[in-house]
Amino acid sequence: MHLVIAIHIATWLVFGETLAPLELNETMFTLELGIVTVGFLLMALIILSTLIFGRFFCSWGCHVLALQDLTSWGLEKIGLRPKPVRSRLLLLGPLAVMAAMFLWPQIERLAAGRPFPSLHLSEDVDGFGSLVTSDFLRNLPGPWITLLTFVIAGGIIVYLLGSRSFCRYVCPYGAVFSLSDRIAPSRIRLDAGADCASCAACTAACSSDIRVHEEVKQYGAVVSPSCLKDLDCVAACPSEALHWGWARPAGFRSWTTASRPKRYDFTWPEELAALAVGIVGFFAFRSLYGQVPLLAAATLGILTGWSCVFLIHLVKRRDVRLIPFQMKRGGKMRWPGYCAAAVGVAFLSLMIHSVVVRLHEARGHALWDQVSSANEHSVEAGYLLMQELRWIHDWGVWTPPYVNDRLARTAIILNRPEWAIEPLKRLSQQWPDNQFVIDELAALQTQFRTR
Ligand code: SF4
Ligand code: SF4
Repeated sequence: MHLVIAIHIATWLVFGETLAPLELNETMFTLELGIVTVGFLLMALIILSTLIFGRFFCSWGCHVLALQDLTSWGLEKIGLRPKPVRSRLLLLGPLAVMAAMFLWPQIERLAAGRPFPSLHLSEDVDGFGSLVTSDFLRNLPGPWITLLTFVIAGGIIVYLLGSRSFCRYVCPYGAVFSLSDRIAPSRIRLDAGADCASCAACTAACSSDIRVHEEVKQYGAVVSPSCLKDLDCVAACPSEALHWGWARPAGFRSWTTASRPKRYDFTWPEELAALAVGIVGFFAFRSLYGQVPLLAAATLGILTGWSCVFLIHLVKRRDVRLIPFQMKRGGKMRWPGYCAAAVGVAFLSLMIHSVVVRLHEARGHALWDQVSSANEHSVEAGYLLMQELRWIHDWGVWTPPYVNDRLARTAIILNRPEWAIEPLKRLSQQWPDNQFVIDELAALQTQFRTR
């Protein structure tokens, strides 16, 4: 999969244009704007094939799962096997993200009485290339945020919440595919007349935390929609009793006791705390500084929920372990526990700070709409907007380009061009190729040096 991605990037670099990004999130452009995208066509193809063959794409075609399995493999090589964290309410994460991406915009459209846009193809000259594009990076948020997304979604969440925990607690596409999987007439199943010794080697091999030996004993097949058909259990079975084959659709049998965890890691109050903090975390990080994309924010939301419960465990439990360290033993905190607590508190403090930044950003966006529409309130709104933007500059951990840009534009609208010099200086460093900004800065510096 990564080789295919590399070839795709290489064709773009060599020819200047290539097949449009095979990103499933581009389904949103189809649903909201009617533009047929390659991502939408891929999504439709995967759903149709999942309805027949089950949820196989995640393990055979998803680069984020490859990254997660690489992390698990690397950790295992150094003797670390992350313990899967079993939560009831955090499992709502993928459904919530799926609803936010695909359902909520449709509900808004229906509520506003807008018709579904007619499906059509478009080209780069129209602003968006459906099938072929030169704007290959159009959905990527920039190198640092992209790197951060891969590190948290493919690495940190695996270490803290167990293998494939991004799939379990975040991935909206996994939520769609697991629904299709319930209807599929094919599964990992026990051979007719096979001699299963209940040795649980299949369960030990399963990176999706499925109790394979119990499910095949009760149903003759794996019924969990978390099964990604990677065939690890088939390879691990010493009796060669398992195979992939046609079987009765699983429906909702995964909700019965055989496939539900016997023990959850959070009590109900902890589940509720994790859910509440996770939701706040998601909204705190979503679009923070105009940068953080949806899936990164959802992953950070899950991590804030987990961090909250982890801190509660550190305070309340006598023994707490996070591989490879014993954080607390017999009620006595050890130095790794103090370090983990410091990191957890710092992370949750960052979340709270981000909530405040987001509130200033939201107010800034509303004021910018007024200022840029140039109505009779725009001068008053302009001074309020300067306050909001300066707060973000003074107290935020970073001043994003859009804040510098709006500070400069608002200063000019307010007829205080001298206030635009400092933000334009910062902007010229952030956008060194933007000749307009460089010329504007030079003109202002000349004007105010001569005065
Ligand atoms: S590994 Fe094979 S023999 Fe062992 S429990 Fe699983 S299906 Fe049965
Ligand atoms: S090991 Fe077996 S049960 Fe587990 S995800 Fe892979 S195919 Fe499914």
